[in-house]
Amino acid sequence: VTSRRPIIAGNWKMFKTLSEAAALVEGVKPLDAVTGGVDVVVCPPFTALDRVVGVLRGTGIAVGAQDVYWEDSGAFTGEISPVMLKDIGCRYVIIGHSERRQFFGETDEKVNRKIKAVLKHGLVPIMCVGETLAEREAGRTEEVIHTQASAGLAGLAPDQAGGLVIAYEPVWAIGTGKTASDQDAQQVIAYIRSLVRDWYGAPAADQVRIQYGGSVKPNNTAGLMAQPDIDGALVGGASLEAASFTGIVQAAH
Ligand code: PEP
Repeated sequence: VTSRRPIIAGNWKMFKTLSEAAALVEGVKPLDAVTGGVDVVVCPPFTALDRVVGVLRGTGIAVGAQDVYWEDSGAFTGEISPVMLKDIGCRYVIIGHSERRQFFGETDEKVNRKIKAVLKHGLVPIMCVGETLAEREAGRTEEVIHTQASAGLAGLAPDQAGGLVIAYEPVWAIGTGKTASDQDAQQVIAYIRSLVRDWYGAPAADQVRIQYGGSVKPNNTAGLMAQPDIDGALVGGASLEAASFTGIVQAAH
């Protein structure tokens, strides 16, 4: 039994022009009527954030960004600060997504700086961790998760750790159509929770919400959500259509 509120977040990645984003979020908006008991978040590209926040104003659906820089302002060409995200009404920020780690040089140390910066401004980080296929096959899953989580979460206060969202996203399951089995996802997520317990104590471990991500679809959501330590999903591909995202949120109840 858990008192943690499930959280389903859609990561739109580098998809959707402004008009496409507006159309998608109009399709997601009716979910507000059925979100009782589940937190719903959409994470559009930066260019569509302000528009999407506007469409969702007055609903219970929250908006998140897909990345952030850790300084408040300054000569950092091309970057977006937590202050800017907060200012336009973002409440969540995805940090350390595996695509950023693979393609954009995101390190555990940068992830840690971003998490602290986001928390300082009252936003909620969604920190992503996950092993590659080679790492899993070599039996190194827990070692990799331990390294990413210990560096990413270093130096937080226990109540900050408890307020986080962590997404366990095995890299081999992202956008591949291969989902981790319910049991495999549960096992790693329970391990992550045990790490939070070791580092930040039982209250933080009981409170922290840990999502599964990797080819989540309406038809595999309920099985994942039935696992005791899985508190929701981070959804990529299936969040790009209102119907499939809605199906996932409904299956999460
Ligand atoms: C993601 O990008 O976070 C993700 C889980 O993608 P997909 O659902 O497409 O596998």
